[in-house]
Amino acid sequence: MRKLLLSNDDGVHAPGLKALYEALSVHARLRVVAPDRDKSGASNSLTLSRPLSLAALDNGFYSVDGTPADCVYLGVNGVWDEKPDLVISGINHGGNLGDDVLYSGTVAAAMEGRNLGMAAIAVSLVGSRHFDTAGRVAASLVGAADTLSLPPRSLLNVNVPDLPWEEIRGFRVTRMGYRGPAQRPLEVKDPRGRTRYWIAPAGESADEGSDTDFAAIEAGYVSITPLQTDLTRHAAIGDVRGWLDALSGQA
Ligand code: MN
Repeated sequence: MRKLLLSNDDGVHAPGLKALYEALSVHARLRVVAPDRDKSGASNSLTLSRPLSLAALDNGFYSVDGTPADCVYLGVNGVWDEKPDLVISGINHGGNLGDDVLYSGTVAAAMEGRNLGMAAIAVSLVGSRHFDTAGRVAASLVGAADTLSLPPRSLLNVNVPDLPWEEIRGFRVTRMGYRGPAQRPLEVKDPRGRTRYWIAPAGESADEGSDTDFAAIEAGYVSITPLQTDLTRHAAIGDVRGWLDALSGQA
């Protein structure tokens, strides 16, 4: 039976993690290692300034006082002697579309699995109601994972519309769209009258391309974006080289 490591960024008590566990438990042996609190927006951060504590909970899940990437690192190297076959992160409460991927702890947990040499999938529900739908999506992808061959150093970012399963129109392979700038921070006063700031929600979609993750979700499709960690803007290499050549020509 396959061995799956589950994690998330919403925390070990999040309903999405429970839904993911329930959807996958018939298909595989599962280990769950997740942050002890909401670490949404943690991205790929690792805790390097203190040791981590790993606690076994009554339901068999493990919690860590750290980030999603800490959890997957410990899950692979501390909780299990054998390497999992697959790392699945989620089900996130809210979409991870376009630039969200850069901030997402959900995607980062999957990315840490990939960095440790495993296949990895991040699953997010673009909403807060139909975790069961996202669970069915995760189960169908895990069931078919053996037949997918990806280039090395890739992972899948999956977003699921917040709809009943019967209303899902299908699956689409997508590219990451882009968001516009975030809104201004919300200024509040703390109980001692000091000014504090809430970081505002992410910007709206600023890329109307029909092949984007945003467009798939809008049309009622599950969006599957293959990701790589190489952020090099390959198309800009020639521009930068030309710029440098001109600079050295002046010298
Ligand atoms: Mn989250």
